[in-house]
Parts: sequence; C-alpha cells; structure tokens
Amino acid sequence: MKQKKELLQTDLLIIGGGAAGCIAAIGAKEEVNLDVLVLEKAEISRSGDAGGGNDHLLAHLNTGEAWDTDQAMAEYYTRVSQGLIDIRVANRLHISRIREIVDKLESFGIEMRDPKTGQYIRTKSFGQPGPFFINYKGKRIKPILAKEVKKRGVKVLNRINVTNLLTDGKDVVGAMGFNVRSGTFHIVKSKTTLLATGDAIRLWPSSSGLAFNTWMSPYNNGAGHAMAFRAGAELANMEITVNTLVPKGFSAAGLNAFVGMGAYFLNSRGERYMQKYHPMGEGAPRYLLTLGTYRETLEGRGPCYVDCRHLPKEAMHHLTTHLLPVDKDTFITFCKQKGLNLKKDVMEIEISETQSAGIAGSVSGIVIDEEGKTTVDRLYAAGACTVPSFGLSGALAIGYSVGIEAAKAASNIRASGSHSDEEVEKEFQSVYAALNRKEGFSYQRFENKLRQIMGEYVGDIKTEKGLEIGLQKLGELERRVDDVKADNYHELMRVTEFKDLLLIGKLIAIAALERKESRMGLSHMRGDYPNQDDAHFHGSMILKKNGGRISVTFRPAPGP
Ligand SMILES: Cc1cc2nc3c(=O)[nH]c(=O)nc-3n(C[C@H](O)[C@H](O)[C@H](O)COP(=O)(O)OP(=O)(O)OC[C@H]3O[C@@H](n4cnc5c(N)ncnc54)[C@H](O)[C@@H]3O)c2cc1C
Repeated sequence: MKQKKELLQTDLLIIGGGAAGCIAAIGAKEEVNLDVLVLEKAEISRSGDAGGGNDHLLAHLNTGEAWDTDQAMAEYYTRVSQGLIDIRVANRLHISRIREIVDKLESFGIEMRDPKTGQYIRTKSFGQPGPFFINYKGKRIKPILAKEVKKRGVKVLNRINVTNLLTDGKDVVGAMGFNVRSGTFHIVKSKTTLLATGDAIRLWPSSSGLAFNTWMSPYNNGAGHAMAFRAGAELANMEITVNTLVPKGFSAAGLNAFVGMGAYFLNSRGERYMQKYHPMGEGAPRYLLTLGTYRETLEGRGPCYVDCRHLPKEAMHHLTTHLLPVDKDTFITFCKQKGLNLKKDVMEIEISETQSAGIAGSVSGIVIDEEGKTTVDRLYAAGACTVPSFGLSGALAIGYSVGIEAAKAASNIRASGSHSDEEVEKEFQSVYAALNRKEGFSYQRFENKLRQIMGEYVGDIKTEKGLEIGLQKLGELERRVDDVKADNYHELMRVTEFKDLLLIGKLIAIAALERKESRMGLSHMRGDYPNQDDAHFHGSMILKKNGGRISVTFRPAPGP
C-alpha cells in the first residue's frame, strides 16, 4: 500500500478537538484573525471525555459569600492539590477566567440555569468550601462547541491521528499524523502548536476486563504527553495518578453526581464510613473517598455500597434523569439490567481502574507557565494533559486562555521554522511499519500485556522491587514493539496509541521509583514508604528527555 503525503500550513495548530482544543480555537480566533487548524483523530462534535456530555462545571461566581470568591477557589485548588501546582499559573489561566467561561457557555445556548427559577443549581462535593459545582444541561456541550468553532472559520480536520511533533531541531514547527480512514500522511507546518489531547487511559485493567470500559474516555492515550516528552518538554508528577468509585463491574463517571446529591457510602455492616476518614464525610476530596473505601475493604468491612434511599424525591429525580445518564448513557440501563432500583436498593461500588490525571485536583501532566507555554519554544498545551488542569472547568478556562496566548505568539512570528525532510521520512517509515508487516501480533495482545504489567507492578501498592521488575518487563515489551502488526488504518492508530501508552507507563514507573513516600491515598501509595514525607517530597517529580536518557529531578513546591 502506498500512502499519499500532504503538506499543510497554518498559523496556530491545535492537536485534539476535545473541550480544551475547541475552546482554544474559539479563543484564538476571537483574539487575532489568523489561520487556526484543529487536528482531531475522532470527530470534534462528540470526541473526548466530554463527548457524551458533562453535567458539573466547577465555578465560583463572586456572589458575596466568603466561599464564592477568587481567593476561596485558589485556596481550594491549593488544598486539593496539596500545594503541588503553581497557583500563579492556575490564577492567571483558570481561576480569573471562570466567570467569563460560564457566561460564554450561556451565550452559546447551553442551559446553565434551572429554567424554572432562573438560578444556577449548585452542589458541593470533593472537599469544596461551598457549592462550587454548577449542575447544568451539558449533554450537548461538544456539538455546541464544535458549531461555535466552525462558525468562527477555524479549519478542522477530523480523523487525523497525530503521531509526532515536527521540530527544527529545537523548537516545535508543526506536527505529523495520518488519516485513520484514507491513510494519507499529513505534515503540518505551524508558527505555534497547542497540545490538547486529554488524559492517558487504558493503562491499567478495568474490573469488567474490557479495555474500553473505562471511567474516562478510553480513546485518550497520553499522545500529547508522549509527543511533548519526545520534543524535550517537561512532564510533572506522572506517578501521581487518579482513581474514582464506580459501580461494581461497570466503569462509569457518576461519583460527583452521587455525592453532590447527598448519597451515603455504606460498608458491609451498613455503617456510613467516610466520617472516619474526613470530617466532611462523603463530601471529602475524591482521593479520600477511594482511600476510605479501600481501607474498609482491606480491614474486612467490604464490599461497600452507595446508598440513595434517603434522598428526597426531587434529588432522586435530578440524579437519575439529569445527572447519571449524562455521566454514562448506559448508566440507567445498567441499573435496570442488574435489577437495581436506587430508590430501594443500595448499589455495590468498587475502586475504578487507575488513570493518568485529568480531573479536578490532579497534579500531573505537561508543565505549562502563566502563558500556557511548555518548556519547549512555540509549544503550548491545555486541558487534561497539562498541570494544572482541573476537570472541565480547567479544560475550558485554561484552553480559552492558552488559545489566546498561542494565537498572540503566532501573530508575532513571521514564518514557521524549517524542518528536515529526513525527520519527516523517519516518522513516515516508523508510522506505517506495522501496516507493512506480514507477520506479528495484534495491538490487543501487546496492550493486554502492558495493562497486566501496570496492574501487577505499577498498581495500587508499589514497592521498589516491584517497580524495578515492572520497568524490566516494560523494557522487554518495548524491545518487541517491532512485532506488532496492523491490518488496516484503524488498527494502525491503535498501534501508535499502544506505543505512547507504553512510554507513559514507563515514565510513571520511573517517577514512582523516585518518589519514596506515599501521597494522596491510592494516587501514589508506596508499600515500602507508607507515610507522606513533606520534608523531602513536597514538590514535583520532573521528567525530561535528556539525549537518549530519561532524567528525573525533584522540584520543591512553588509556595504561595
Ligand atoms: C463521562 C464523563 C463525564 C464527565 N463529567 C464531568 C463533569 O461533570 N465535570 C467536570 O469538571 N469534568 C467532567 N469530566 C471530565 C472532563 O470531561 C474532562 O476533564 C475534559 O473533557 C478534558 O478536556 P480535554 O480537552 O483536555 O480532553 P478531551 O475532552 O478528552 O479531549 C481530548 C481530545 O484529543 C483527541 N486526541 C487524543 N489524542 C489525539 C491524537 N494523537 N491526535 C489527534 N487527536 C487526539 C481526542 O480524540 C479528544 O477529542 C467527565 C468526563 C467523562 C468521561
């Protein structure tokens, strides 16, 4: 098979058309009239974590209440991230822009308020000082954002799986990827490039055993992290991962909906257990909800359950009609098939598969500064792939802010830098190699092995010896990547995803070895260093490519 090559030129290139990528394109176009191109491997109207809808937007509204201010939001941010993020970056790119984002979503026609009262419906969860979550009608947030993107004249190429950044040897000057339907290879030259590729999922086994049944979008594979790393950018705290609580055997978002509406968690004795772990009980930060549930199970009081039986009629209606079906289209079908009636029955829960960051309070990802710039020139990043990120609110506010900054920077650059044809040819050969292979194994075989290694050695309780064995096994898998074979372009995309996942898995294990402490519950639990050690580890593990090696350095927390 001979693939076509196509060269494109733009001012600002955005990789990933999820929530952050779409709003970044909108921000860029509103700031300067320049060419903006979005490359998305799926289809921007339903792609990414928000593809099926979102229902909670973290926002303070400055209503005059002490908890509802920029300062209170900044304090909350700092508390849940244990001071590991640079609050100056969060303030400039996210917190100061939240109100504008709420107004913008309303101006796009998204129903942010209760139509009966005209007020915002606000709920409190995850350790918030007040009801920071606006419950809104977000089922169609992606088609609406996509429409706004197109309305502003942004060029969008769907079905392009971006595989690598293009550099001039130092700065980023564009990117390369292929069309997952036609196979055409695209080389895009840009003045500035913005990564918005979301989080890294499919790295650990989910309890249903189905690789694509995950809490967050299974199609996000840490591609942006991997591309940024290969281009020389810094990644922070990759070892600090996240989990949530999900229905037993069914990975689905929805924890926020349950706790926001006032559900309880019960152990097998029927006792509410969260008060033991945090004074806010079920309203505790997410990592404590998973840790509490983990401890109950470990100490013989499992399995654990979510209990909604006491909820008032209106709360139950809101939960089952407006929240859970947005979190997962099939949530209510799942309950029906299990014969579960949330009004009468408790529902068994478990700890979800692990994933790499991307939610409120997560502290890992591509490092960005107050302008959203990575540590590589002309490369910007926003959304779940960066630190800070902070769920949808962060993806939208930071995405919008960074879109503006990247556009301003592009408008000050006369031409995109030069690249070498050799670099392009090398990527071309490497991308299509799996397709041209006659013999080999499927990506599923490799991915299953990767998840097995991550689960066994880089899983919930890590030890030095286990991590070393894990790294050795990941190395063995890496040496066999030339045995992976694809039969079509769709599988070829999965092969490139697998390779990025393998790199991310390795980076997580390397950083986890260096963080000789435990922090944020199951997010980073070292069996051999069970305590949090602020004296030595209150800060970030920074990973960076250093020639052919991977360097890990510790950077103390930035302070207030
Ligand atoms: C079911 C569900 C419900 C949620 N509900 C809430 C909520 O109520 N409130 C909240 O705050 N958060 C919620 N979240 C999280 C929230 O949706 C994410 O934090 C947010 O969407 C992240 O935005 P993003 O743009 O960074 O990533 P995404 O929206 O996931 O977008 C990433 C995009 O990059 C594309 N991409 C990835 N790799 C490549 C590549 N190599 N080439 C080209 N394109 C690529 C993907 O296809 C995707 O479109 C929810 C998540 C899920 C899954």
